[in-house]
Amino acid sequence: YRFALEQKGIMFDENQWSAVKNIEGHQLILAGAGSGKTRVLTARTAYMIAEKGIDPKEIILVTFTAKAAKEMKERMTIYPGLSPHSLQQLMVGTFHSIFYKILAHHSPEKWHSSKLLKANWQREQMIKEASREMNIDEKDFAFDQALTQISWWKNHLLSPHQIKPKDQWEEQTQFLYERYEEKRKSLDAFDFDDMLLGCYELFKNNEALLKRYQQRFHYVSIDEYQDINKVQADIMTMLTQKSGNLCVVGDDDQSIYSFRGSNPNYILEFEHTFPTANKVILNQNYRSHHPIVATANKVIAKNRKRFSKELIAQRNSDSYPLLFFPYDEEEEATMIVQDIKNKIQNGGKPSDFSVLYRTNTHARALFERFLYSNIPFSLDQSHESFYQKKMVRKILAFLRLAINEDDMLSASDLASALFIKQDLIQQIKALSITENCTIIEAFSRLDSVMPFQKKRLQSLPAQFKTLKTLAPVQAIQFIEKEMGIKDYIKKQGNEGNKMERGSDDVKDLKIAAKSFQSTSDFIEHVDHIIAKYEEQRKQPIIKEAVQLSTIHRAKGLEFLHVYILGSVEGNIPHDYALDAWREGDDGPIEEERRLMYVAMTRAIESLTISVPMNRREASTQKSRFLKDAQRKLFNPKTRDRQIILGEK
Ligand code: ATP
Ligand code: MG
Repeated sequence: YRFALEQKGIMFDENQWSAVKNIEGHQLILAGAGSGKTRVLTARTAYMIAEKGIDPKEIILVTFTAKAAKEMKERMTIYPGLSPHSLQQLMVGTFHSIFYKILAHHSPEKWHSSKLLKANWQREQMIKEASREMNIDEKDFAFDQALTQISWWKNHLLSPHQIKPKDQWEEQTQFLYERYEEKRKSLDAFDFDDMLLGCYELFKNNEALLKRYQQRFHYVSIDEYQDINKVQADIMTMLTQKSGNLCVVGDDDQSIYSFRGSNPNYILEFEHTFPTANKVILNQNYRSHHPIVATANKVIAKNRKRFSKELIAQRNSDSYPLLFFPYDEEEEATMIVQDIKNKIQNGGKPSDFSVLYRTNTHARALFERFLYSNIPFSLDQSHESFYQKKMVRKILAFLRLAINEDDMLSASDLASALFIKQDLIQQIKALSITENCTIIEAFSRLDSVMPFQKKRLQSLPAQFKTLKTLAPVQAIQFIEKEMGIKDYIKKQGNEGNKMERGSDDVKDLKIAAKSFQSTSDFIEHVDHIIAKYEEQRKQPIIKEAVQLSTIHRAKGLEFLHVYILGSVEGNIPHDYALDAWREGDDGPIEEERRLMYVAMTRAIESLTISVPMNRREASTQKSRFLKDAQRKLFNPKTRDRQIILGEK
């Protein structure tokens, strides 16, 4: 079979092939990026079916994202000896998709897809209702973070009463968790985490059924095992208890989902958990050109908590990673789009390019540049659009009201930013009618508020008068400094949300507004972008397109040309990791380093790393990870910002 594969140009080295051939028992393939782990998994599956005559129905192949699963199946279509029929019978998918199939098969009523709480707002709604019982101030509480925490608990098989809260925020979230579950059950609904828990319980409580599945899924393979969490690992252990045929593949250096509960200890301790496991180490990198591998190796070597392994690049060349230093985030996006445009004009295919970023601020700048560039692009849609972020929407509401003082929709955002109760909105509206005044005037005439609020509201009409005269950046500054929302900005994103700060959103918004002279032009632009964003979201995925993606979402994928945005202190490593590091905890910074490693190792031929000299209105420092990589590893010609990308 190896010969048949190699005839098709699918080559293997000896270590890889030994892992392909070994199909019985526990097996661990622990290896660095681009070493062919995923190729081994797919080839091994094909080998079982085509060479060993194993029924494809007995095999499951699990991976982390739907995109990766799709790609696996696609790769396998060219493998010899696999009929379309057998490929169809093979179960390839994410944990969620596979577990869901099982659940829906056994109780289609209970697990009907219409009962799935798909959108975050549905879940948020449920805890918001509960928060009122508890007198939690809705406007101050980071509900999205609470949902992440609840999900984390569920994935650790912790029910509400098993939690020992560490602080007040956790105590509140624990309460919300309890209510969330009650409410969910009363609605007869389920969320994504319940798919995992449901499967866990199904097997735990029904031995006969478990036995059937143990027989049915005789061979289990899992890719990206470094990011498995407790409930997933427990189910897989149960499923393979009898057969012992569990093959796991991963790279501890690429564990980047700990905030969601994944735990690299499962891969690191696999050998101890299953002492008879066959262990395979792959140490050749077949993906990236030598200088890229050397750079990535240097970066990751600084992590202390890791299974040490050095990768040897198979592709030799002098395509050294490029550093470049745009003035700021805006110029960064402009330069990258220009560079990609040049390269496409010189014969490159859009799908050869990927731009990787950390946050949706970056996604915003890129989205806007690509939109006007006529280059086909596809945006990773896991993010909410920047302009629809809570804090941003609030500031935009002020600007919108400055243009149109009767904008009711924005009035409600304004009210919450000023800590005015939502039920007063009707009163404001009524006032504006009876007194024949604008909404802003009505705010200032509101009687049923606290004295300190009254004073603040009374100055609104004059403030809006000033607002109207300012250019958007100055207007945002004025809103921030003079209009009494400092507390609101400070509060947003602080409660339990370590990754985001409201004040950062305000800075990012100022950058977005920088090139506009008038507020109405800026708002018009924003609305255009929001509309385009929604349009893009509904579009079917275009294949021949530049991929814009978060680093997290790019895991497992590869591209001829990769760009990494914002390689500065505070972004990667992120501020939250730097804070932890200052307090003596280097766990988060090690995860950040792994993130950088994942980003770098996506590149096949060229890697371009952008270090904006200014970010959020302050001068920056180059990411410490680039210092780890050492100057000599970078292309010397590009250390200067004068160098124009694309000339090489
Ligand atoms: P990651 O850690 O990023 O998920 P991986 O270890 O899963 O990477 P693959 O994606 O399987 O790596 O392989 C990386 C690239 O190297 C692919 O393009 C694959 O086709 C190629 N490749 C793998 N093994 C060989 C080989 N023996 N000879 C030539 N090319 C190979
Ligand atoms: Mg892989």
